[in-house]
Amino acid sequence: MPVRPIPVTEAGLIEIFSSIQGEGPLLGVRQLFIRFAQCNLNCDYCDTPFAPVATCRVETAPGSETFEAWPNPVSASRINSLVQNWTTSQPGLHHSISLTGGEPLLHEDLLADWLPQLRQSLPIYLESNGTLSDPLENLLPQLDFISMDIKLPSVAGQGALWEQHCRFLQIASQRQVFVKVVFNRQTPSEELEQAARLVAETGADIDLVLQPCTGPEGMGLTTRDLLMAQEITTAIHPRSRVIPQTHVFMGVL
Ligand code: SF4
Repeated sequence: MPVRPIPVTEAGLIEIFSSIQGEGPLLGVRQLFIRFAQCNLNCDYCDTPFAPVATCRVETAPGSETFEAWPNPVSASRINSLVQNWTTSQPGLHHSISLTGGEPLLHEDLLADWLPQLRQSLPIYLESNGTLSDPLENLLPQLDFISMDIKLPSVAGQGALWEQHCRFLQIASQRQVFVKVVFNRQTPSEELEQAARLVAETGADIDLVLQPCTGPEGMGLTTRDLLMAQEITTAIHPRSRVIPQTHVFMGVL
C-alpha cells in the first residue's frame, strides 16, 4: 500500500515545553522549546532522544511539567494556536521559540511554512549542529538567533566537519550567532585552536562557548582543564567563555 506523503505543513515532533535555556550566552531566559525528530549526525556523547515517535508530548501549560500526547505529524495550525495561547495567557514570559532536536534544519520545507506565522508571536532561536548550510541559507530571513555547534572530531566521533562548519558560520553570521564547542579531557589543543580560528576569522564579536562534556558521572574535567581550554582559545579568540550545561544541575527540562 502506498505511504501517505507527509504534507509540508505537518511535522514529526518529540516534545513541546516551556523551560529555561541552559546553555550559551542566552543562559537563563525562558523559552518555548519545540524539539524535532531526526538528526543527520550520531555524536558519541549524544543523550538526546530524536528517533521519530508516534505521539509527541506537549506540556499542558508553561512550566506545569504535566504533558499530554499529540499524534504525529503535528499540523501548523495546531502548533500556532498553542503558541498564541501561551503568549497571550502569560505575556512577556517567553524570550523566544527554541527550535531544537535532533537537527531542526532537516525539516526545512516545514519550517519555511511555519516560521513566518510563529515569528509573529516570538523571535525564533535555532539550535543546530552547524552542518546543513543550504537549509540555513533558505530559512535565514525567519531566524533571529542561531546557536551552532562545532563538532570536534575527538569528542563527537563524526570525523572532520570543519568545511561544513565554516560555510554554516559564514551564513549564520548575518544573524546573532553563538558557537558552542563541547570538549572533554581527551580533546587535543589543536582542535580547540582550530575551532577558535574558525570563529575569529568569521567575526571578532561572535561568542565562542566552551561547554564541558557532561555525562552521567558529571563533567570529568578538573578546574585546571577548564582554565587551560579557555587559555588556548582566548589566545586566538578573546570572546571565549566556559559555560556548562546548567539545566542538568538546575534539574529543569
Ligand atoms: S547533533 Fe545533537 S542531536 Fe544530533 S547526534 Fe549530535 S548531539 Fe545528538
